[in-house]
Amino acid sequence: MTSAADAGCPLCQSAAEPRYRIEIPEIGERQVAACRACGFWFVTPRPSAAELERFYSREYFDSEPGGRGFTDYLPKSHARVGEGWLAGRRLRREKERGRVLDVGCGAGDFLAGVRETSGWEAFGTDVSPAAIELARREPGLTLFHGELAAAAFPTDYFDAIFLRNVLEHVSDPAGLMREVWRVLRAPSLRSGQAGGRVWLLIPNGHTELAPFAAAHRRGQAAENVQAHLNFFTPVCFRDWLARLGFRVENIYMLGVKRGLFELGCLPASWRTSRRTRSASEAKPPREAAAWKHTLAYAYLRRALKASFKLPLWLPVGQELHAVARRPAG
Ligand SMILES: [Zn+2]
Repeated sequence: MTSAADAGCPLCQSAAEPRYRIEIPEIGERQVAACRACGFWFVTPRPSAAELERFYSREYFDSEPGGRGFTDYLPKSHARVGEGWLAGRRLRREKERGRVLDVGCGAGDFLAGVRETSGWEAFGTDVSPAAIELARREPGLTLFHGELAAAAFPTDYFDAIFLRNVLEHVSDPAGLMREVWRVLRAPSLRSGQAGGRVWLLIPNGHTELAPFAAAHRRGQAAENVQAHLNFFTPVCFRDWLARLGFRVENIYMLGVKRGLFELGCLPASWRTSRRTRSASEAKPPREAAAWKHTLAYAYLRRALKASFKLPLWLPVGQELHAVARRPAG
């Protein structure tokens, strides 16, 4: 086993320096190390496959109030379906027929939305058996339980691939992106068809590392309740995608309010988060109103959320979005 002191960077293999102590539920104490060469931050040593499987049990997706998992993942699914509808319409405008893959599809609601409005063939993979069991309730999806590489999709197979909140969870992000590259459609010079596109959504590393740094200053180990293993700062993420060979078409941050909470610029008492609520003050999850299950609401939500697209030099947003294409060559 690699010791924390000589941890090599999982992205560029350069030497990395342990910086913060963290505690992950079900897994135990680890360190967060920083790569001096590429600016990547990561948990070391990496948790084993068995430890990760224990962490992503059913409780992760459907927790009791006060538990360690999501209390609102299932009732909030209308929001993810709506995101899927919008993404599906974008795909449809570009191409009548195609294949779309959602890596880490969770309960499959985003993918179901994409399938509905695009009419494309929809595939999903997830390492959590509980998530795949939930996703099977959605009609028309081709689902695979396990790592993307284990699904053994043909080369050049997908026109669009989504990785929404996946890269921060995986032990080998570089290996996963190489597999994404392989199954993504290569551009065809003969037919003039462009290469496939990948849509990436991850938390902004700056806002995720801020609470770890604060705990470190108090001489404590920070709680890493979501078991994130990888922390990409915006510039590190952009440069890494380029090094992998992708052409980054668009990259920006959203979620300025949540980002400011994470950075400690807004008082924590203003916040009502599933993560900070104690069992006694937690409210039972509510079923969303019927009007929230409409395309019009999905557009409104997107418009409000996307109204402040933050550039990379102002890294205070909570979500980092990137769209990248597989170029020729
Ligand atoms: Zn590195």
